[in-house]
Amino acid sequence: MNKLQQLLKDIDGKGYKAYKSIQGSYSFHRYEICVDYVQGDPFASPSKIRIIIPNAYRQIKEEWKEHKQRNIYVADHLARTVADAISTASNQSKGSGKSGLIHIDKPGQEILERTAVQIKDDKTVICLSIGLPANGRKINGKQAETLFLTTIPSILRNSIFSVTDEALEKSAQLADQHVAIRQKMKDNNWIAFIQDGAILPRQSGISNKPLKQAVPFNSPEENRVAFTIPHREEQLTGMAIEKGISLIVGGGYHGKSTLLEALERGVYHHITGDGREYVLTDPAAVKIRAEDGRQVTSVNISAFINDLPHGQDTKRFTTENASGSTSQATNVVEAMEAGASTLLIDEDTSATNFMIRDARMQALVHQNKEPITPFIDKIKQLYDQLGLSTILVMGGSGDYFEVADHVIMMDQYQPINVTEQARKIVADYPVSRKKQIDELDNNMNNRVFLPNSLALQKGKKKKVQAKGRSTIMMGQSTILLQDVEQLVDDSQTRAIAELLRHLDAKGMLKQDRTLATLLDDIEALLDNKGLQALSPFPEQHPGDLARPRRFEMAACLNRMRTAKIK
Ligand code: ADP
Ligand code: MG
Repeated sequence: MNKLQQLLKDIDGKGYKAYKSIQGSYSFHRYEICVDYVQGDPFASPSKIRIIIPNAYRQIKEEWKEHKQRNIYVADHLARTVADAISTASNQSKGSGKSGLIHIDKPGQEILERTAVQIKDDKTVICLSIGLPANGRKINGKQAETLFLTTIPSILRNSIFSVTDEALEKSAQLADQHVAIRQKMKDNNWIAFIQDGAILPRQSGISNKPLKQAVPFNSPEENRVAFTIPHREEQLTGMAIEKGISLIVGGGYHGKSTLLEALERGVYHHITGDGREYVLTDPAAVKIRAEDGRQVTSVNISAFINDLPHGQDTKRFTTENASGSTSQATNVVEAMEAGASTLLIDEDTSATNFMIRDARMQALVHQNKEPITPFIDKIKQLYDQLGLSTILVMGGSGDYFEVADHVIMMDQYQPINVTEQARKIVADYPVSRKKQIDELDNNMNNRVFLPNSLALQKGKKKKVQAKGRSTIMMGQSTILLQDVEQLVDDSQTRAIAELLRHLDAKGMLKQDRTLATLLDDIEALLDNKGLQALSPFPEQHPGDLARPRRFEMAACLNRMRTAKIK
């Protein structure tokens, strides 16, 4: 501490570059600060420091770290307390550029595995970004002293050193509950569970916080299940959705898409108070939508689309500019390739011609003039032959009644089980639409990405960088992820950018692995070495990364405009 203070006094008023001399570690009373990276100038991306707190000063109980899930939840809680303390800190530091900034990668509504706070055997590590203070381009040593010797200590006092064991225990208990619900779902073949009383709608299209005064979810009697979970006296009750084909119908603006969006997010876990803390979905559920304009490289969409004009091959379909239907077919096949077991589809974001062709259209446009086998003719085959379930929002076509195992109607934001009525309607109003049943091509998921797919070179350097949640700049090209809806956090996108760099640096695409096995390898790496394995300096500040699912990693590889398939 004195060493750092002296250094800052020495460099006060000097050119900004002199800050480089503070790189290194410094002991404080209850922790150590490691300055891992010093920014080049006040406007550059901020400096990176780690705060290392031995267990002696912030005890992390053995039972909070022995299970991975508990460890993640407790670390998540600590990150939130640090973020809160930062936002209320009286940080008066002013100056040029990012002077005085203090930042932690703050979690959102989802509880994700992240690198911001790491709980290790005997210590806790907190990763911060800070803007080293300057006036113009001259070092402001006094402000830097305040930052290190007053502001940061007070932030730590108000977070990591004051958070109660009870609060951390509660987080660990939520982890246990989520694990228990997932186990229950597995044992009973449920692909989704929505708790009675859950709040599904969000404040707005740009806020992930719960809507105030929303109508709480209330399961239909027929679908209600009840079971006990740890750390809770009363039973948890709610709606279970079984494997198979489930249809969500209902009038416009009655809450169909809101329900589906909650299910999309239910692959992750939410914090207490979110409203969706007991809304869980099959972790291998993938949202499928139309995404016209996307890149497609050598995907076998022939199960859905055949005989395109000009004889384009749909067994190895490649385009720089997919249409609505071809992009949606691609998204289905790619999800299966990556190992999806449930598809989530909303009519609002689907290509109509991909979803349905009614009897009249079949009569007008003969089947041999129509390249598309609509999803309605595949949905049962996908389930019966491959075990792939679908939850589908469809207010516009009753043709799907015929293939649905369960039909839920949203009425004034409340679900009603209308499966029997739907069955009766199918019997009473037969439709003359012809089914198109062809064999399912099993050869859909053996693509191997070639190493030169990763074109990181930009000028003399290799470069790959995430921009916000939905863009990755790789070398000369841009990868667009805005329609990858289950990528929910900027830090996940950063992790995927780091992944691309890692795949390239380690030559992981040289091993001739199919995409599915490559994803297995990546997940094994993350499971064994942690998320920081993706960072170029895993022993230092591992940045601000959150773990993406394999489906979102695959989504990024699949959208590279430079992808090359063997
Ligand atoms: P649909 O897909 O059936 O047309 P949406 O799911 O888009 O309807 O919902 C329409 C509106 O109703 C949205 O603004 C949404 O936020 C709101 N909403 C949805 N569910 C609820 C609820 N349980 N309580 C209050 N408002 C809700
Ligand atoms: Mg809708």
